[in-house]
Amino acid sequence: MSLSASKVNQYFRLTVPMMVKNNVPITPPYYTLWYNYTTGDIPKLNQRMDDIIKRLGQCDSLMCDKLLDEFITNAAEDKLLEMQSNINQVVKSMGHSTQNAMSDAEDFNQTLSKDIKIMAQEASQSDAPAAHKIVSIARDFMDKTEHYRSQLEKQNAEIQALKEKIAETEKQMFKDGLTEINNRRKFNEDLAIYTASATDTCLVILDIDHFKPFNDEYGHLLGDKVIQSVARTLELSCAQAQGAQAYRFGGEEFALLLPNADIQTAAKFANEVRVRISRLNLTNKKTGQSLRPITTSLGVAQFKPGETLDALLERADQHLYAAKNAGRNCVRPVIPTALAS
Ligand code: GH3
Ligand code: MG
Ligand code: MG
Repeated sequence: MSLSASKVNQYFRLTVPMMVKNNVPITPPYYTLWYNYTTGDIPKLNQRMDDIIKRLGQCDSLMCDKLLDEFITNAAEDKLLEMQSNINQVVKSMGHSTQNAMSDAEDFNQTLSKDIKIMAQEASQSDAPAAHKIVSIARDFMDKTEHYRSQLEKQNAEIQALKEKIAETEKQMFKDGLTEINNRRKFNEDLAIYTASATDTCLVILDIDHFKPFNDEYGHLLGDKVIQSVARTLELSCAQAQGAQAYRFGGEEFALLLPNADIQTAAKFANEVRVRISRLNLTNKKTGQSLRPITTSLGVAQFKPGETLDALLERADQHLYAAKNAGRNCVRPVIPTALAS
């Protein structure tokens, strides 16, 4: 469920002052916690926070950390994503309105400062106490406006920082930790988009051959380096093919998505990738020893409009197993024209 922009803004206006009152920094995780408090979506969370505030006077960041562990970190993924998107929406619009308010306050102060100068000059030529009083009230008022403007500036800086953190968190959500290429979650998102919009979409699943013995022979750390090299090679290959994207599925398994490619083009591309990986010249930096070449097996499948995404994945997987059964270091299905060059 996605909330309307006005509802999200309304929650923002209620949430932030509560965070300030409780001495909690405005960061995405804390905001998520307090946002939930505001919506009342998790009644047990509200009960616990109310108890804490009653007992300790406030629910500070230390208590919030505990509550985050208890209620938010393990919350359903969908719920977290929904909150993330709501926060995004509000930060975007708040950033804009704060900016406007800031420039209004600045304009106002500039005008006021000119008027006060004139009034002060006039008051200096007069001995009426009321004239001096008015100047003093106006100066006081200007100080207050200046204070308001600097508060807005601070709030704006916090919003900018929050925006950057959200962008960073979002980026990390879709990255694989070891290789920093797209992860499975991103794959699921892109696959749904590509199959809905691109006319031809092909999927390639790639698996490193005999990787267990490789790890046994050279050690897991070197194994990780190989996985990183394969990932880099896939990214480089994709950068040279329009629209292609590489993903780490997990372990020593990867996927490539090729929008606007038929099965011939995809099989040809998969074969080029296979050759490129097999030619990687990997060495153990510690010993200078050359490692044995890395080979991969690849299964290719073209999306058939109307079929489920699982059916497409299953077909690519079957082709990958066919490649393994055919002796590895090859692409299946074999498309003679695609492999000819
Ligand atoms: P096959 O050719 O049939 O794919 O053989 P395989 O040995 O590659 O396949 P298997 O599924 O038996 O083993 C996969 C191995 O990949 C097991 C594990 O040691 C290794 N592996 C999986 N993930 C990682 C990782 O993140 N780092 C390292 N270094 N090794 C990993
Ligand atoms: Mg393998
Ligand atoms: Mg595998």
